[in-house]
Amino acid sequence: MSYTVQKIKDKLSIVDVVSQYVKLERNGANFRARCPFHAERTPSFFVSPDRGTYHCFGCDAGGDIFTFVEQIEGLDFKGALKILAEKAGVEIVYEHPGAGGREKKDESTRLFELLETAAIFYTSRLNEPVEKYLKERGINNETIRTFRLGLAGSAWSECSEYLRERTFTDKEIVDAGVAKLSPLGKGDKGLIDKFRNRIMFPIADSAGRIVGFSGRIFGSEAHPDAPKYLNSPETLLFRKSRVLHGFDRAKQAMRKHNCAILVEGQMDLLASNQAGWTNTVAASGTAFTPEHAALIRRIADNLVIALDPDEAGLKAAARAARTALHAGLNVKVAEASDGLDPADLIQKKGANSWRDSIREAKDIITFLLDVLEKHAKSTDQFRRSVESVVLPFLSDVSSPIARESYLREIARRLSVSESAVAEALAKVPVAREASATGASINTGDSRKERSSFARKPMDHGRAKQAYAIFLWQQSLEKPIVNINKFAKDLSEALGVEAFSVLGTLSEDEKESLRFRAESMYGKNTTLKREVEALLHVISHERLSADLREATAALKNAEVTGNEEDVAVYMSVCKLLTARIAQLHEPV
Ligand SMILES: [Zn+2]
Repeated sequence: MSYTVQKIKDKLSIVDVVSQYVKLERNGANFRARCPFHAERTPSFFVSPDRGTYHCFGCDAGGDIFTFVEQIEGLDFKGALKILAEKAGVEIVYEHPGAGGREKKDESTRLFELLETAAIFYTSRLNEPVEKYLKERGINNETIRTFRLGLAGSAWSECSEYLRERTFTDKEIVDAGVAKLSPLGKGDKGLIDKFRNRIMFPIADSAGRIVGFSGRIFGSEAHPDAPKYLNSPETLLFRKSRVLHGFDRAKQAMRKHNCAILVEGQMDLLASNQAGWTNTVAASGTAFTPEHAALIRRIADNLVIALDPDEAGLKAAARAARTALHAGLNVKVAEASDGLDPADLIQKKGANSWRDSIREAKDIITFLLDVLEKHAKSTDQFRRSVESVVLPFLSDVSSPIARESYLREIARRLSVSESAVAEALAKVPVAREASATGASINTGDSRKERSSFARKPMDHGRAKQAYAIFLWQQSLEKPIVNINKFAKDLSEALGVEAFSVLGTLSEDEKESLRFRAESMYGKNTTLKREVEALLHVISHERLSADLREATAALKNAEVTGNEEDVAVYMSVCKLLTARIAQLHEPV
């Protein structure tokens, strides 16, 4: 695997990879941007093309192209590897440990393979009645193939049997969410397929690996009480709060248009895609979560939420809108005409009417104001409903500029002053968990906001500062200072022990120090002089501390009358005093 990693690193620069997601600006030898991993207005995210690394001074995110893709796509290492290998045009070569020994695949790799095999099984069972049904719903064959739709038939354990024949164990089949243990002894040897009598929609993670399925009821043999849609249960791979249907296909278009479209169901997703809106994703049967919002936010700034035209749809859209606003997305609402959902609208009125709905999408605040104004029986009622419904939304808008323009709009609609609206807004209780911003949600680890060295250089002490400069200079092809001399001087100034302790810092910490030194001294034309001054101060501090200690020991020896010690500490003090005096001489 390390061979593949190196090959990918040789082909793809960090700038190529990061600039796909973030708008980079040149900054001396580096690039910088607003951090995609935490909300900020001034850029503290830096990319070093020379070292192939990135670092954020605001949230401490940092690493190479692999960690970047893991973090921004919400993937594990292998998922990032898959994406980058495809981008680089490099084939992934697995290294087998031991002679001829097959590498033991970890659990998740086995489950990914199992789900892929299951998807092949379902697509192979697709038949004419399903295609006919889908065609009636306006879904063409190309879309069926692109989205790899399939069919789960009426047999009890056909899929399980297919998987067993391909060496998957019963435990793996159950763990992947494809079958469950039979309580009644139905099915073959105790396994019942989870999905039966259903049209199958594979659900992929952002690297395009299948993590689960959604099945729509189909066929005359389906149980009348069975739910219309059934999703895979939560598994090691399938976390419904993190997976957006269609995201893997949509992300490129989302990036290009800086906008995502959120629809409700699978059929809406297919129809919208087929109509040319390849930046469409679906929450499909689950609430739109802060994780979903963060996933979109890392790629696009704008979200259009397509409403299902009933009251439940309106409520779901409103909740999704708040979550999205909270994550820092600009949110618009698209209303389909004539109370149709997107799939029906596209089928009955054509792709153009869907396009019109999206183009005429209103920003969420305007949309709410319109709905409330239309339904309000009096100005007073309108004012009250604005206070109770719209203002909580406003408190979720993270951009101060956007908030102010909304404030103005609300004031205008209510014919009151902006300060009156601002005052009412201040009384709105702070929304939900204050930490549920898109910023705090990343790949699952909790990174704390820390004050940065860049802002408070003295926090970490002069020793670390000098060591940071040393690491940075050492990483350059043409360092400004003489590295060997610097190492020797620094070791002397700090003491050998302190110098070697700094050497034990982790590679992440060292990389963070390099970025810090670079951002502080990168544009500095007098680095050599500053380094000398810094070494001078460090030496002075250390010698002074030693002198204080020796003086105290001398006093102690005088008090106890230990003549031998007195003589020793006397000469030590003299030596230190002489060396301090030396430091003050002009060089
Ligand atoms: Zn950051």
